[in-house]
Amino acid sequence: EVREDIRNIAIVAHVDHGKTTLVDAMLESASTLSSSRIGKDERVMDSNDQERERGITILAKNAALEYDGIKVNIVDTPGHADFGGEVERVLNMVDGVLLLVDAAEGPKPQTRFVLKKALALGLTVLVVVNKIDKPAARPAYVIDKTFDLFCELGASDEQTDFPIVYTSAINRIAGEEPDAMGSDMSAIFKKIKELPKPRADIEGSLQLQISNIAADSFIGRLGIGRIRSGTLLKNSQIGLSAGPGTPIKKVKVTELFTFDAMGRKSVESASAGDIVTFAGVQEFNIGDTLVDLVDPRPLDPIKVEMPTMSITFGVNKSPFAGRAGKMLTSRNIRDRLQKELEVNVALRVEDTEDGDTVLVSGRGLLHLTVLIESMRREGFELMVGCPQVIKKEIDGVICEPFELVDIELPEEYSGSAISLLNERKGNMLEMTTPTAEGSVTIQYEVPARGMNGVKSKLLSATRGLAVMSSTFAGYKPFAGEFGGRTRGNLLSFETGIATPFALTKVQERGALFSSPGDEVYEDQIVGIHAKENDLKVNVCKAKQLTNMRSAGADEKASTTPPMQLTLEDAVEYIVPGEFVEVTPAAIRMGKFPKE
Ligand code: GDP
Repeated sequence: EVREDIRNIAIVAHVDHGKTTLVDAMLESASTLSSSRIGKDERVMDSNDQERERGITILAKNAALEYDGIKVNIVDTPGHADFGGEVERVLNMVDGVLLLVDAAEGPKPQTRFVLKKALALGLTVLVVVNKIDKPAARPAYVIDKTFDLFCELGASDEQTDFPIVYTSAINRIAGEEPDAMGSDMSAIFKKIKELPKPRADIEGSLQLQISNIAADSFIGRLGIGRIRSGTLLKNSQIGLSAGPGTPIKKVKVTELFTFDAMGRKSVESASAGDIVTFAGVQEFNIGDTLVDLVDPRPLDPIKVEMPTMSITFGVNKSPFAGRAGKMLTSRNIRDRLQKELEVNVALRVEDTEDGDTVLVSGRGLLHLTVLIESMRREGFELMVGCPQVIKKEIDGVICEPFELVDIELPEEYSGSAISLLNERKGNMLEMTTPTAEGSVTIQYEVPARGMNGVKSKLLSATRGLAVMSSTFAGYKPFAGEFGGRTRGNLLSFETGIATPFALTKVQERGALFSSPGDEVYEDQIVGIHAKENDLKVNVCKAKQLTNMRSAGADEKASTTPPMQLTLEDAVEYIVPGEFVEVTPAAIRMGKFPKE
């Protein structure tokens, strides 16, 4: 049985390729055709600042539109492997995917991860070539590139024969061929209509597996999921189950919403095939099923990925802490994290022995640094510790988390990437032959702890040309200690701020923690000077080790231009015992106060 009147699709796009504009254009065009109005200033899929800066979607958003008697639910997908579990859960709600690519740029590595999952799940992908109006548009090339990518990601024959539609979202037009653009968006709606219909048993026993959790400051905790079978009625007695063979709790859904062009729409009931949000059920987890009390048929639970990395959070007690920091207590931090736990399902928060700090564990560095950065922007004054991987004993062997790393870079730089990852005990899995533009893709499996600082190193080694993405690859036996890092006295910095005079100057401004002669590791960050999001980082170059105070050392400062780094890079560099001061005004390095 299928629902003729619904299509559930996920949208996958690299930030800036026009997702917000396209979804707006679709919503508006659809509402023009059905003559209902939508709020003009609401940009339904608009990215937040962090999403823009990182080029990925962090918060999944939903919308829906109606065209030609068909309701199209559009679900946004998180763009990074650290949100891997969530990507899978979002994709489980849909039958088709819109892959949005810029007509000049083509598909970007950041979308590979989600696309690979979508293809592996057997979903049909509609390729939307947007910005076709750009003078630099090269649709044939972009389609070729997309085809190559599909092949590389293991697409089936049917999947590589993907449907295509061309759009100029900004002009609100779509067409079946780049040189035959229509006068409205109907071409894209026609293609969406041809995507697979949801299979749904409306007469069957209620089954709704909770795919996602959200929070609403008024209604409270919300569950989101697709109704697999049956009908869900507001205020009726139903059951909640964690999976087959588990007890069933009696619950009631007191608020029920479907999606429309405005966002959430309150309804009395919804049936199989539709994606809904509900409230009123108190304690539930991702993967639980809402079931019929008389004929309960819970689905197998969804695996929520276990945390692999921890970072200590504490109140910023440094002399540089701003006023907010002086007022902040560890209680405030705990409360904020507690709120986060309600929606951030892969996160764990534990008290530490000292009682003053909290250990926050998550899916990876990005998962944790996105949270830290959000808190910083909310005004928190924090100190965060060195990221530590969570080791596990499996079959009597100590194992550690590994990452699957994809790096795309010009071939001439592949040697430096390879030696860097070999140093970190990585195993090369694959290296592609150079493309016509001379770029290669290298795939490595690297211990997660070895990824510290890799991104910045690669970027500086390739003059910013390398594009790296990584996925959790699983737990494997401990790979042993890394060689390569030399300990020595602080001498000079990549940023060129090396003279004792400059050091004093920077120290006076409260932006540096290392002093001349301090013992540091090669590549360790010895100071960060930050203003808003503009960070300059000083990295120890141990290779030039001599005595800091020896004659002429001042002149040895390297001339490499300052790196522009994010919090993620800062946290990547620190070693145990150090922390990063995270304040709304700045990010600095420091040392944990001794008890
Ligand atoms: P998102 O980050 O993917 O949500 O992208 P946006 O929708 O915010 O668009 C990014 C930029 O591309 C904005 O400046 C848009 O005006 C522009 N843009 C979007 N669609 C088109 C298009 O069809 N043609 C052109 N030329 N620009 C577009």
